Amino acid sequence: LTVLGIESSCDDTAAAVLRGRSVLSSVVLGQTSLHADFGGVVPEIAARAHAEKLDDVVRQALREAGTKAGEIDAIAVTAGPGLIGGVVSGVMLAKGMAAALDIPMYGVNHLAGHALTPRLTDAVEYPYLMLLVSGGHCQFLQVSGPDTFRRLGGTIDDAPGEAFDKVARLIGLPQPGGPSIERAALQGYPKRFALPRPLLDREGCDMSFSGLKTATLRARDKVVAQKGGLTGQDQNDLAAGFQAAVADVLQEKCRRAVAASGPITALCVAGGVAANQTIRVGLETVAHGRGVPFIAPPLALCTDNAAMIAYAAIEQMQTRAPDGMDLSARPRMPLDTDSRAMLGSGK
Ligand code: ATP
Ligand code: FE
Repeated sequence: LTVLGIESSCDDTAAAVLRGRSVLSSVVLGQTSLHADFGGVVPEIAARAHAEKLDDVVRQALREAGTKAGEIDAIAVTAGPGLIGGVVSGVMLAKGMAAALDIPMYGVNHLAGHALTPRLTDAVEYPYLMLLVSGGHCQFLQVSGPDTFRRLGGTIDDAPGEAFDKVARLIGLPQPGGPSIERAALQGYPKRFALPRPLLDREGCDMSFSGLKTATLRARDKVVAQKGGLTGQDQNDLAAGFQAAVADVLQEKCRRAVAASGPITALCVAGGVAANQTIRVGLETVAHGRGVPFIAPPLALCTDNAAMIAYAAIEQMQTRAPDGMDLSARPRMPLDTDSRAMLGSGK
């Protein structure tokens, strides 16, 4: 079964061809340089870039896979959640191709794509616990089937990646903030600044990173007021302190999520922040405490890509019918089975 995946929900235009668990091609065209001057993703610019590039990216994915359009058995497309302009472009292209080729089309929840990736890369068995931790998301999910997710908790404000990016900007480190903070932290002393571990005193698995960002800003301001600026060592110490606080929060909340989940076969992580070694070591400790493996897919499949969308469709084909031409692009799209029932939004 050969499936073409299309992903355009944020700032990456992506297409991939999968044959079962074999990734024949996975093309990801980033937009970082387009948004660089604006300090964040500009929805209007993102939408236009997706509309312009999607055709080329799909063609390239087919070419790299050595697959002709006529050999595709199904199309998978991110239907949400995300920036609506990009999602609409992807869904329209998918509909056009599905109609022209007369093949089924599956609208996939972007988060389901991330959450099912450990099954693509490591054939992890259900049920498992997934921490999704990226620039836009942070949540614990118990994954029991291709369309069965229970949300155990998540951030109530910023996602950690977003906080890494903002803090990097505040202390004068380059974007993307995650890698530059991790690099600076290697030379920093994490205990110089007493930064908070938000919500650790509160029960459950919810997290908050916005207050931590503000606390880091205040620590920076204090140094600047004293010395008129930040030295390299100040930057390193702020980076190390912030990173340690994020890692502590994720580790402790993960411990609680593991305790709150039923049986699990593995603790898995996805999203760009999963690249962080300090965070990984903390999560690994939790997994080993529970006696389950810690699975972090390779980074290219951990960050936004279309292979995960194609793979999610391959799994969901076993349990549901394809979507029709009435498939709509949705800026919001709950993943958790219970919250979908509450919203009465169907399957
Ligand atoms: P989405 O939430 O839709 O997946 P995204 O593009 O923001 O969107 P990713 O591509 O998964 O998310 O990850 C990017 C984020 O990961 C950025 O915020 C970046 O700073 C962060 N990141 C990348 N490397 C590291 C690292 N080594 N340590 C911490 N954060 C990192
Ligand atoms: Fe994503």
